[in-house]
Amino acid sequence: MSAAGPPDPRREIAREAARTALCLDFDGTLAPIVPDPETAMPLPGVPALLARLARRFAAVALISGRPAAYLLERAGVEGVRLLGLYGVEEVVDRRVRLDPEVEAARPAVRAALADLGAHPTVVESGAWLEDKGLAVVVHLRRVADPGRWAAAVASAAREAAERHGLEVLPGRLVWELRPPTGRDKGSAVRQVVAESGARFLVVVGDDLGDLAGFRAADALAAEGIRALKVAVRSPESPAVLLDEADFVVDGPEGVRALLESWADPAGRPPSVGMPPRDDAGP
Ligand SMILES: [Mg+2]
Repeated sequence: MSAAGPPDPRREIAREAARTALCLDFDGTLAPIVPDPETAMPLPGVPALLARLARRFAAVALISGRPAAYLLERAGVEGVRLLGLYGVEEVVDRRVRLDPEVEAARPAVRAALADLGAHPTVVESGAWLEDKGLAVVVHLRRVADPGRWAAAVASAAREAAERHGLEVLPGRLVWELRPPTGRDKGSAVRQVVAESGARFLVVVGDDLGDLAGFRAADALAAEGIRALKVAVRSPESPAVLLDEADFVVDGPEGVRALLESWADPAGRPPSVGMPPRDDAGP
């Protein structure tokens, strides 16, 4: 940091779009959080905006814990990379390509799903089990009193994972059981940067899973990549994510405004509705 104050990195990104990899989360970032995760949709205008960005940027990638097919259905636009299940799946030529090592763990995931479906706490709580094929997710969001069940459901998830050699990825009232791939948003971010040859990087996310992307951005910054971490504020966004971000935007609307500023070839700085993080401490 220079004493004169650093230039606004958002302007730098606008200028350097052709050398920038843009890594975006989906739920809570491009799509508002909704009670039924299956009905999540990107904000109006976002798919067209992504297509415009893909023409300007070195890479535009959606990196999500969702299956790649889910992303394809909702945001499958020309030139945008879709990495599902944290990079275990990717859409190539509108077909889902899967890591073969992960495929081998499918029976363990099926067994964990059956266990959880019969688990008394899971059943009694009314938790929804999402079958992702190669992962199973326990959702408490739609339950009337999730706080009452969170600890017990979390421990049921951990037990089932341990029994079947899976790992647990916790989120906001969700626990994902998946094969221990070593993949997270961080490895997906690294992959996108490496494959695009980008020298600049933007990572945008709203949840705990996005921290890995932020940490990868930090590591890449140490390797000479100019990285910008953007957190999306919501009533539930984790404080640690907001703390580690370079900027905080308000909800998917704030993300859309930021992306619109970058899709504009004139590189109009996002001065309206996009304040620098206003909760910054010393
Ligand atoms: Mg999210």
